[in-house]
Amino acid sequence: MAWQDKLRKVDPYIAGEQPKMEHMIKLNTNENPYGPSKKVEAILKNYDSDMLRLYPSSDASDLRKELAHYYQLDESQIFLGNGSDEVLALSFLTFFNGKDPILFPDITYSFYPVYCKLFQMTYKEIPVLDDFTICFDDYKQKNSGIIFPNPNAPTGLLLSVDQIEALLKENRDSVVIVDEAYIDFGGTSAVPLINKYDNLVVIQTFSKSRSLAGMRVGLALGRKESISKLQDVKNSFNSYPLDRLAQLVAIASIQDQSYFDQTRKKIMDTRQWTKKELQTLGFKVLDSYANFIFVTHPSLDAKVLFQNLRKEGIIVRHFNQERIDQYLRIAIGTRKEMEALIMFLKQEINHN
Ligand SMILES: *Cc1c(COP(=O)(O)O)cnc(C)c1O
Repeated sequence: MAWQDKLRKVDPYIAGEQPKMEHMIKLNTNENPYGPSKKVEAILKNYDSDMLRLYPSSDASDLRKELAHYYQLDESQIFLGNGSDEVLALSFLTFFNGKDPILFPDITYSFYPVYCKLFQMTYKEIPVLDDFTICFDDYKQKNSGIIFPNPNAPTGLLLSVDQIEALLKENRDSVVIVDEAYIDFGGTSAVPLINKYDNLVVIQTFSKSRSLAGMRVGLALGRKESISKLQDVKNSFNSYPLDRLAQLVAIASIQDQSYFDQTRKKIMDTRQWTKKELQTLGFKVLDSYANFIFVTHPSLDAKVLFQNLRKEGIIVRHFNQERIDQYLRIAIGTRKEMEALIMFLKQEINHN
């Protein structure tokens, strides 16, 4: 057998592009258009680089203390990872070990099937309804775990905490993971259910609402029992948590609640404005609770529109996937960026 036959071959997740264009309006990876808090800037400016000689605190205790206070949980209920993608991968490894399939929606974060294939887990994609809503009646079947984002990506649609609680009641024998990457843009978190349901794990990230995608900070929240198992798996892989700088920056971000609230509000207001403008232009806009919108137009082909926008330096996301190939996912940028988008779309529609 040649060495090539002994290699592992996988189809990786493909992230939205990070093009190197000047003056582009980048609305394709749901980054925050506003910089992180000034408190974060101060940490970075004053950092003593000599400290980088030393390994970081292995349990990130200062940050976990801060987060425990923020989420009203015990420190033992908080797990940290380098971005929530890493937290998700480790969570699949830790929590999803039965024989039955793992369940998630067919229209959702496309990393989930990638983890399943990497870890050789069986999974079943449960179709969302025609209006793209998740229907938990369809999840009443044997499973090794259930995962979904709330709000869902790329639709932006939100499930209520009551709906999630009903699922938890129905599904006591496997872990349910709620991926709350976008929960800070108008949704209600399932975190308070953790102390009521021992099989619930909630995952959040600093990449979107805290404008720290470049720093890679993600977390999982759950019962002490499940979080300690997650920690064991992580320590079998890389025993250090976040790097020194990321730990300090995350603390500074959590401590600036007013900046967090201001920027979230600006993004939600701009989302509302953009939605109305797009509707005026004939777009159908799903009811988003995230920092992006999912839109389609009855007379414009989504892929052609994606390409025309790109020529103009406006980068959005198009998925070549059944059911959603006539939609575009557009992140909410600054008001000025969204005005430029609308202006271009007006011309585009007039030419058609
Ligand atoms: C962006 C995103 C993540 C991952 O974010 P990280 O930058 O890795 O923390 C996880 N889940 C969903 C649904 C996302 O959209």
